[in-house]
Amino acid sequence: MEQMRKSYLGWLRDAHAMEEQALTMMQGMVNRLEHYPELRDRIQTHIAETEGQEAELRRLLDGYGESSSMVKDAMGKLAAVGQAMSGVFASDEVVKGTLASYTFEHMEIASYRILIAAAGQLGDSQAVEVFRRCLSEEEAMADWLANHSSEITRQFLARTELDLPAGR
Ligand code: MG
Ligand code: FE
Repeated sequence: MEQMRKSYLGWLRDAHAMEEQALTMMQGMVNRLEHYPELRDRIQTHIAETEGQEAELRRLLDGYGESSSMVKDAMGKLAAVGQAMSGVFASDEVVKGTLASYTFEHMEIASYRILIAAAGQLGDSQAVEVFRRCLSEEEAMADWLANHSSEITRQFLARTELDLPAGR
């Protein structure tokens, strides 16, 4: 039981760090999307959802007596991923950002599935409920990106042809 709890809390800390990383990534991207208002609005909505997720995970960590400063470790692990996703943006950053976001949402989906299984195993049904809520928000965001990536790509290509500032 003790080992199980340790594993679970480690994954929870990683997930909390992941949400902080998600916020950094999306906040960096959203201001550069003035030519893609639909994508910008969807990301804005997901930023609000993500702030809620971050707060809920922090509340769970607090409840288990886990200090938030332990999050630092996991942040380091995710820094490389975050850099790839929020850092170097090229002229096609809207397409690269769409790709990165789609990838990130699926990492989140996988993480919440793992947390649901672990919290279920430990009998923490309240935590399971929190993770289920987060999972459905991530799935909705991933679906939205899946349904809009073709259109975003076509818009980007059309703007490039017209010599408009296409990358955003
Ligand atoms: Mg999230
Ligand atoms: Fe997400």
